[in-house]
Amino acid sequence: SGGSNSSQGRSIATAQPAQEERLVVAVRVRPSMEATERCIEVISGGSLLYDDGGKSRPRQYSYDHVFRENDSQEQVYKTTTAPLVRDVLNGLNAAVFAYGATGSGKTHTMLGPVPRKKPQTSDRAPPTASCDSTDVSSQDIGLMVRAIEDIFSHIESAEAYSCRVSISYLEIYNELIRDLLNPGGPLELREDHRGQRITVAGLSEITTSSRKEVVSLLLKGNKARTMEPTAANQTSSRSHALLSIMVQARTPLGTKQGRLFLTDLAGSERAKKTKNRGKRLQEGAHINRSLLALGNVINGLSGGARYVNYRDSKLTRLLKEALSGRCKTVMIAHVAPESKHRDETKNTLVYADRANSITTKLQNSVYIDEFKDFPTKHYQSLVSELRDEV
Ligand code: ADP
Ligand code: MG
Repeated sequence: SGGSNSSQGRSIATAQPAQEERLVVAVRVRPSMEATERCIEVISGGSLLYDDGGKSRPRQYSYDHVFRENDSQEQVYKTTTAPLVRDVLNGLNAAVFAYGATGSGKTHTMLGPVPRKKPQTSDRAPPTASCDSTDVSSQDIGLMVRAIEDIFSHIESAEAYSCRVSISYLEIYNELIRDLLNPGGPLELREDHRGQRITVAGLSEITTSSRKEVVSLLLKGNKARTMEPTAANQTSSRSHALLSIMVQARTPLGTKQGRLFLTDLAGSERAKKTKNRGKRLQEGAHINRSLLALGNVINGLSGGARYVNYRDSKLTRLLKEALSGRCKTVMIAHVAPESKHRDETKNTLVYADRANSITTKLQNSVYIDEFKDFPTKHYQSLVSELRDEV
């Protein structure tokens, strides 16, 4: 009967067992901006010393990777994201988060140096043509563009399967979701009937076979991000930006679908530190709500809690899949080395330390046919072949 064909199909598609996968945690120390006292000393590719200003002895923290101040964008990409790209091409989901206080280097890692917006001196000031991220030299290019280029080179070198790459890019600002590829009004989250799959209604997904087009979409999208000056950093972005790169590969067994989430989180500093007032204070409260929720999720997962609450913020609802399973996840925690940033640096190191003990269950190569109604074409023909034999 149709019913038994259906369950047969499912068990074939998920025949490989789930494997335990620990969340990978890297810490990146950005270059010091001034010749002052430091609170961080990197002692190896996996550990650093934190100095609390002489109150107690320097404390050692260990992570999967620690990047030094002069480690290149390429090194960071190869260590953290390149392995995930291979998984995504094999039909797995993967995610990279950039975490850290404002000014610690998150956007630099994810996108590269972003030209500073000059304060507007006059309404009639001519538009500055130099404010264009395409000026970024190739060695400074960040993870988002590197991942896209890498995916396209893999696809071009493997002629066996036909692939489809589509991207979406959104920001969460004051708990509102905005499409960065097609800026407009706020978008709503939708859940499927079991609350398992979360989608953003009306979010544009752009399919392209041109890497140039993707890269220019991305740079344009980034310009649409909400930028607001705060006391902590003039060009700080108070929003979380999520890039999703979906790869569908047609194989003889069905279509494999993998998705890579690349997330540039808003600054993790406390609202009171940035002397926020009014509108900005409200933003601070929302940012804290999303990051607090993310912190609670991480605490719950690392402590092995039976029930983890993802519902407290848009950020955690969207990232549920990335954090709770069927996904390889890398967190890159960013810290500033100057001792004046000591408190934020400590907070980030502790947060990253907790994230270090999360494990997620990863299922190998899931065919998207699994999510559609069975029997699929493949199994239908298999079934009719078997019928012919009887
Ligand atoms: P965030 O996004 O965390 O607020 P940014 O990425 O904007 O921080 O970084 C703050 C400043 O430090 C920027 O001027 C950026 O270019 C610079 N910076 C950050 N990380 C690095 C790095 N690894 N190498 C060189 N410059 C960096
Ligand atoms: Mg930033």
